[in-house]
Amino acid sequence: MKIKNVQAFPIAFPLETPVQDATGVWDSWNTVIVKITAEDGTFGYGEIGPLHGGGIPIFTAMVDYKLKDLIIGEDAFDRERLYEKMLGRGTGSYALGQKGAIVSAVAGIDIALWDLVGKILETPVYQLLGGRAHDKIPAYASGFFGKDGRPLTPRECSDEAKGYADQGFKGVKMKVGFGRKQDLLNLEAVRKALGPDLGIMVDANQSYSYHDVLRIAHELAAFDLTFLEEPLPINDLDAMAALVAAVEVPIATGENYYTRFEFRDVLVKRAANIIQPDIIHAGGITETKKIADMASAWNVPFSPHIHATVGVAASIHLMTSTPNTLAAEYITTGGSYQLRQALYGQAFRAQDGWISAPQEPGLGIHIDEAIFEKFYPKNMRRESPTQPAREVTSGRWQELVKSKSPQKKANIGEFRDSADRL
Ligand SMILES: [Mg+2]
Repeated sequence: MKIKNVQAFPIAFPLETPVQDATGVWDSWNTVIVKITAEDGTFGYGEIGPLHGGGIPIFTAMVDYKLKDLIIGEDAFDRERLYEKMLGRGTGSYALGQKGAIVSAVAGIDIALWDLVGKILETPVYQLLGGRAHDKIPAYASGFFGKDGRPLTPRECSDEAKGYADQGFKGVKMKVGFGRKQDLLNLEAVRKALGPDLGIMVDANQSYSYHDVLRIAHELAAFDLTFLEEPLPINDLDAMAALVAAVEVPIATGENYYTRFEFRDVLVKRAANIIQPDIIHAGGITETKKIADMASAWNVPFSPHIHATVGVAASIHLMTSTPNTLAAEYITTGGSYQLRQALYGQAFRAQDGWISAPQEPGLGIHIDEAIFEKFYPKNMRRESPTQPAREVTSGRWQELVKSKSPQKKANIGEFRDSADRL
């Protein structure tokens, strides 16, 4: 079946309250939805990203000015060949690299192709991927984002944890990296709120140093953590491997790596106990299946980073068909959750802490395309070659430590100082 059209729809979804992790503060959730239409009018959706704040014109330009031309007129069923055509050595987009943003753009197209093929064959995507390895996927609630330019307090963490337990989640993941004392106080509050039987995961978003982790590892282990995510900067696999060997808490990583080639290095170096590729970032369904299968040869579980809209559906289909699936990340608040509700309603909602792939053809989602217009970022281009590119509306991301805002910097600095005096 020939591909007739490829469209990229950028979305800047404003958040009522800016949210925060250990890396920064953002006031919008941005993504790009890809739609691929076949010659018979059947269409499929994919997603590119994620990306906090501005920057989405980069992805739409990659689709509009490079990838689209490589795909139109091709057979939608040739997903492996088309992936290589978009990203392979010596191809038309090779000069854009084989890591980084181009991989995310290819991921969006790849996911849309799987949705399209599933619809043409009237088959759910998980069936195309190898069938059902799991009837349902355990979901852990991922949240605890800071707000108003500060991390959550122990009381706020406790309340949020109780809310997740009440919804039936079997585990929660919280943000750390806000200073050792603050991290431990928040963790203590969450463990107390959940009791001994529910899982707790912590995500440092690369904010610790190697010695920070060694100092805190024994204290973290006392809270019986399921895993510690991205403790270190991702570009030092030797340090990660040393941590895996040195600390009791399992180490998870992956949301910032691209393609099977980067995950090969993580696995060969034994730099993680659990891998977390993001399907809308690491290369789509075609590539992430290879990553998950490769990890099985190291007996490493697959527990993808999921902070997405269409990407939630793609992830659950892949997890359903993957034997070494561990658990699904489930964002219960925040921009991607709100936008997902707006785009396709109640599909892929966790029920009592579990998510299942639907029996509908393709990914099993029905997108409200009115959202593309409603949250279209204005001012996407320059008016003339000599004018500076204008800011995309609702696209601000603010780095914490190097922030140019004295106000924000002071708040965080004061908070860290006071937290470490406790
Ligand atoms: Mg993370």
